[in-house]
Amino acid sequence: MAAAEIFPWQRMLWQQMKQPKSSQHHALLLKGRRGIGKLAFARALAKSMLCAQNQNAGMACEKCSDCHWFEQGTHPNIYCLEPEALSELKHVASESTGVGKTETTSVKTAKKLSQQITIAQIRALDDFIYLSAHQERDKIILIHPTEAMNVAAANALLKKLEEPPPGVLFLLVTHNTASIPATVLSRCQQIMMPVPTRQQAREWLQQQGIRQPDFCLAMAGFSPLLALQHDEQQAALHAAFIQSLSTPEKFDLIAWAEKLYKQDLSTVTGWVQKWCYDLMSCRAGGRIYYHLQQADKIRQQAATVDLIALGFLWRELAASQQLASHPLNARLFLEELFLNLLEIVYQHKPETG
Ligand SMILES: [Zn+2]
Repeated sequence: MAAAEIFPWQRMLWQQMKQPKSSQHHALLLKGRRGIGKLAFARALAKSMLCAQNQNAGMACEKCSDCHWFEQGTHPNIYCLEPEALSELKHVASESTGVGKTETTSVKTAKKLSQQITIAQIRALDDFIYLSAHQERDKIILIHPTEAMNVAAANALLKKLEEPPPGVLFLLVTHNTASIPATVLSRCQQIMMPVPTRQQAREWLQQQGIRQPDFCLAMAGFSPLLALQHDEQQAALHAAFIQSLSTPEKFDLIAWAEKLYKQDLSTVTGWVQKWCYDLMSCRAGGRIYYHLQQADKIRQQAATVDLIALGFLWRELAASQQLASHPLNARLFLEELFLNLLEIVYQHKPETG
């Protein structure tokens, strides 16, 4: 997908927003679940507003110097605010081509950077807001993810939203409106971002060259952008893990911890969560959501599983998800995770040597 394009499921919204008569609020909040293209839409919208010569349907032309600057990240009329850690991780991802030592080190450094949007970042907006605009064009402030603002930052932003500076558009993107103060929400026009139908998501993934779109979609909780990240090597590892988990009496937790500890741990925790979710869902109502290909194994195991113990484990996993971004010992973290799963869910005592 080219940088300024929008996703097929966003076209209707785009047209509505680009209608000549639609008056624009000074602060737009694009909300909706993860992996449906909210940020891409916000960027396309910002780019089209800064482009010197809009093309059909109001899309940016991709040719003028404004569009060029935008892509380079040097356009003087847009200011992007995100947590430091997120910027650094993107920087690392764009620079490194393999899993080298430097990458590992930089990622570790990035984890020490702030996961929040801070008041200092909001205050730093002042220069951008109150200095004169390039070519009298609009100025755009893009904040993502908005829920990463801490309380002080949100209060500082609120002041700006209450007395909007002329010619400034705030574009806020969020996966989680519940974590944003109501005072901030009330100052924004909230836009619920469209979710693709299964058919739209499947077609789009096929166009991106994904060979098993249905499997990847199910694994990614039906978010097409997350499904796209489900790369083949990881998909193979995931599939082997699930295969192994479906025969718990043979599951070798030490070996799996060894195999997976260099992976992103919250991803691995997510795999276990999805497995538990399917067991609970199948036990409670017969429905399997993620592991459609292992439906038989899930049904078999769900029939004997202790639903209450599973509920406890589910809550523990949610807590682990938080710890997974900075465990002290990755291997130990996984061993404990797997041990809990085997003991609580299957009442199975694996031999740990
Ligand atoms: Zn342009």
